[in-house]
Amino acid sequence: MQVFGLIGNPVEHSVSPPMHEAAYGACGMDARYVTFEPKPGSIGRVVDGASALGIAGLNVTIPFKEDVARVVETDPLAERIGAVNTVSFEGGPTGYNTDAAGVVRAFEHHGVERSGQAVVVGAGGAGRAAAFALADEGMDVHVANRTVERAESLAAVVPNASSGGLDDLRSVLADADILVNATSVGMESDETPVPKAALHDGLAVLDAVYAPLDTRLLTEAGEVGAKTIDGAWMLLFQGIEAFEIWTGRNAPLEAMNAALRDAL
Ligand code: NAP
Repeated sequence: MQVFGLIGNPVEHSVSPPMHEAAYGACGMDARYVTFEPKPGSIGRVVDGASALGIAGLNVTIPFKEDVARVVETDPLAERIGAVNTVSFEGGPTGYNTDAAGVVRAFEHHGVERSGQAVVVGAGGAGRAAAFALADEGMDVHVANRTVERAESLAAVVPNASSGGLDDLRSVLADADILVNATSVGMESDETPVPKAALHDGLAVLDAVYAPLDTRLLTEAGEVGAKTIDGAWMLLFQGIEAFEIWTGRNAPLEAMNAALRDAL
């Protein structure tokens, strides 16, 4: 039996186990996906131990994504983002960032072209992944963040990127094609980081927040005629990308999507 897993804290309510185990079932794999909450300061030993035990793959979530990036070989994109959310053990522990692919593949799945101007609101882990991913697709990226200095330092390392605060979103979004909310605003609350007046029907809006799925941002974006993509799509495609890295086979999208949406 193959064992895959997730390390983070907390991981108790993670929806990754049902999503990944649905994939193993659909593919006829003898495999399990289990969650672990490592002790602080133990990440190097956790990765070594997982490797020694023959764990087939690990996902990594808050607060360990940056710590893991420091103790494994990283692929070039994860290196630039500075965070790892997927570790493969084939040929030595290697770290990947599949949140970036999660953003791109969510847009691709909905038929949204990644060209023109993208606005990424947020400069934390999800914001970094989204900004690099969309810039690598060839988009001009504007990073907007509550703490402007964080937006500036991210824009300084992302190709063709600009930066600013949240106050000038209306002018910044006027000519934009894609908007990603990569802040935690809207999580378990009826708040939005983007005023409705800044939204328009030329936008495709992805909200990384997935609890709830029908955030105020997506509701208001739908009301002005924008295309809306909820956070479960990003979550699904980061999981699909991880499954494909670990197994080298195409992931069963429908089984994973159904299990994920059941669990959310
Ligand atoms: P993070 O690293 O802690 O970053 C949080 C971001 O939210 C920062 O940009 C922060 O701005 C901003 N923020 C927090 N509270 C705010 C407020 N009241 N007003 C304005 N901005 C605020 O978190 P993360 O890992 O990037 O996650 C961000 C969100 O994305 C979370 O909801 C997470 O669940 C979601 N996420 C979803 C997926 C997915 O697959 N769907 C994947 C990863 C993350 P400052 O810099 O000013 O503090």
